[in-house]
Amino acid sequence: MNNTLSIFNEIVSELLQDEKINPVSKHVPVDELYETIDLSLQEKPISETEFKSTLKSLVLKSPKTATNAFFNQLFGGRNDKAVLGDLLSVMLNNSMYTYKAAGPQIGVEKVVIDKVCEVIGWGQNSNGTVAPGGSMTNFMAMLMARDAKNSRAPFEGIQHNMIIYTSTDSHYSVPKNAAFSGIGRNNVRYISVDSYGKINTEELEKTIQEDIKKGLVPTMLNATAGTTVLGVFDDIIALSTICEKYNVWLHADGAYCGSVIFSTNYKFLINGIEKVDSFSFNAHKMIGTPLSCSLIVVKDKEHLYNSFSNDASYLYQTDHDEFNLGKTSLQCGRRNDALKFWTLWKSVGTEGLEKIVDKQFELADVARNYIKNNSDYTLYSFENSISVCFNYKDIPAKKICTLLYENSKLLVGYGTFGDNEFIRLVTINAQNKKEDIIGFFKVLEDFIEYNKELF
Ligand SMILES: *Cc1c(COP(=O)(O)O)cnc(C)c1O
Repeated sequence: MNNTLSIFNEIVSELLQDEKINPVSKHVPVDELYETIDLSLQEKPISETEFKSTLKSLVLKSPKTATNAFFNQLFGGRNDKAVLGDLLSVMLNNSMYTYKAAGPQIGVEKVVIDKVCEVIGWGQNSNGTVAPGGSMTNFMAMLMARDAKNSRAPFEGIQHNMIIYTSTDSHYSVPKNAAFSGIGRNNVRYISVDSYGKINTEELEKTIQEDIKKGLVPTMLNATAGTTVLGVFDDIIALSTICEKYNVWLHADGAYCGSVIFSTNYKFLINGIEKVDSFSFNAHKMIGTPLSCSLIVVKDKEHLYNSFSNDASYLYQTDHDEFNLGKTSLQCGRRNDALKFWTLWKSVGTEGLEKIVDKQFELADVARNYIKNNSDYTLYSFENSISVCFNYKDIPAKKICTLLYENSKLLVGYGTFGDNEFIRLVTINAQNKKEDIIGFFKVLEDFIEYNKELF
């Protein structure tokens, strides 16, 4: 093992060095992939030297997501304390279903969950778990909503037409999960959004009323805290009033920006979060832990036991079973995704998490100001969002993003809202500085300036 760890250190040192010089890996076109790196698997073992050089080549040619040139998705950067936690969880290889197999690591997950519940303002009756990503935590929410509406559903399947509500700008995991849960994709109602991208509450209430008249069963509303394209927050307080009135489960999908709960300055965006039935967020997005680290918390832990414990209802749990987390999780064998969040949180404190969140909004302000002060740009997104959406000189966004990628300049994506397609710059890497954001625009402008023939 020690020998192998030294290979690890050697490759990682080289990667860190390389990231400074080449923040973007040279683009490997798909049709050249297998010629560029020897990925083939053979009958015989290979020499240690060959093994090492192949591995190095693979690592150095993979997209670099921790540098100041990666703005493509809703994650980025590299938080060393969180990486340390994740590396240790690989070394320990505990499975998080029982105290017997994971021991103190169970305490780690419980402390993280409890602390999140405390930050929200929930008491002893709340609980939560960690699952492999935001799509899965959203799935867990939908299952709990289904079972809360009909406690026979887990035994007999879906008996009536349950209806799910979500906005047109919500994440695509909602219809997918409707299919998984037996509720069905066709039973998802997409409610339109206002000019800012927030779900229309009037239309929502009208749709619920119509469904009730038809004899359908309104079951869950999926609210979004940070929509995937614009980074906009649905109005939780208004939605909770509607959900209470019609007895509909309220889930807040905070995969992208739910971490604003840690910020004194920005938690107003998620005002009313203590009123929801369930709330999920990805620590691997705003908090910057390695993938994946997604948490779901529920106001009433009974639902977690009812939907995910295969034998007993929570009333019959012993104290000991509270440390057997398999009773409340989606999976059986489960990797320890809590430790990386805990190592980070332990080292920087809740204040440190707040700084990480605030930094992203500060960088987004830098980007928006740059755009507003430069007439070659058009801005499409709004204040209090870390998604900065824009176009440059009316050049199609898709074209710019693709050429920047194929020429190994920058990784950035594009999105649409209404009739507009635009570049979406996400300032989610809290390790970036103001200069890195300005640098992003300079790289984009220079690339277009010096490659006019392409545009
Ligand atoms: C990213 C995202 C998800 C999905 O999370 P994964 O961890 O990628 O599965 C769900 N909802 C929203 C709003 C997201 O931005």
